[in-house]
Amino acid sequence: MTTADPHRQLLDSFQRPINYLRVSVTDRCNLRCRYCMTSQTRWMPKGQILTLEEIHRLVRVAVAMGITKIRLTGGEPLCRKGILQLIARVSRLKGLEDLALTTNGTLLVQKARQLKQAGLHRVNISLDTTDAAEYLRMTGMDLLNVVWQGIQAAAAAGLEPVKINTVVMRGCNDHQIELLADLALQHPYHIRFIEYMPMGIDPREAQKHFISVAEIESRLQRMGRLIPIARRDRDGPATRYRFEGAPGEIGLIGSMSKHFCSRCNRLRLTADGHLRPCLLSDDQFDVITPLRQGASDADLEALFAQALSHKRQEHRLRFDGDCRLRTKMVNIGG
Ligand code: SAM
Ligand code: SF4
Repeated sequence: MTTADPHRQLLDSFQRPINYLRVSVTDRCNLRCRYCMTSQTRWMPKGQILTLEEIHRLVRVAVAMGITKIRLTGGEPLCRKGILQLIARVSRLKGLEDLALTTNGTLLVQKARQLKQAGLHRVNISLDTTDAAEYLRMTGMDLLNVVWQGIQAAAAAGLEPVKINTVVMRGCNDHQIELLADLALQHPYHIRFIEYMPMGIDPREAQKHFISVAEIESRLQRMGRLIPIARRDRDGPATRYRFEGAPGEIGLIGSMSKHFCSRCNRLRLTADGHLRPCLLSDDQFDVITPLRQGASDADLEALFAQALSHKRQEHRLRFDGDCRLRTKMVNIGG
């Protein structure tokens, strides 16, 4: 069995340190967000999805190789039966420094305290509007109030900092930018505005809904002085700001207009057991087949190393380009 070596550091071919694995624990979800799913989205057969035991093994191997940060995502990770047990096991892995989860927040009221007790450090919660009717239009479910209670439950349970992820779409929820940013003036939450990415659809079609972080920033500047927060080593893709005197933060994530590929530190494991070197590429490496055919830990390490060596310097997805992704977000977990 592989154990964590505190001195191991993974580097990709461009000498970027890779220490972060995002793990999709299910492709299923109780919402149907319009930027993530289409009416054609179908769940994969259960037998094609990694079991919790298999996820734990792959995560253990990754942590032994030098991964220090794990994020569980989906689909909706809190819909996966046994998620608390998985968190409890993963949180005990030696060498792991940060264990986070991205959720739509609909099940947090019931689960926030148990998640904390199981060893989860923090959550990112998706919220694209403060308006109940619009929430229903964007997600297919009338659950805004439940999510808002879930956000408060997460903060009360100590799953901090609570980060709120907002995908901004022109003509859908862009009029909500200021209302959502206002949450950072009222609460110690980090409100992160994410550029809409054309996943699984024609980028030229999607372009009409795109709003750049530059445009979002100039609207926020009109609300008050935005003070930049200096970047720290373990910061993710967000450029961080604070309004003067505000308890919370603002983050801007420009996946399309301001590539952060040069700082990329991550690999992804899909729910159906494939390693993905990049979110915005269809490249993937099958690990579920070798795993089920009896691969040793050393074999699995070699597969991680192979995926790592295929990380590109920069993604090629452009609204005006001919690169089109087959992959849908719900299959990779963001
Ligand atoms: N169900 C969980 C949730 O909604 O937070 C986790 C999975 S979801 C796929 C992960 C993240 O991807 C969410 O923050 C969601 O807003 C984001 N996302 C989904 N589709 C997107 C798109 N087309 N462009 C940008 N972000 C997207
Ligand atoms: Fe479900 Fe999250 Fe996709 Fe919304 S963004 S449909 S909550 S997986």
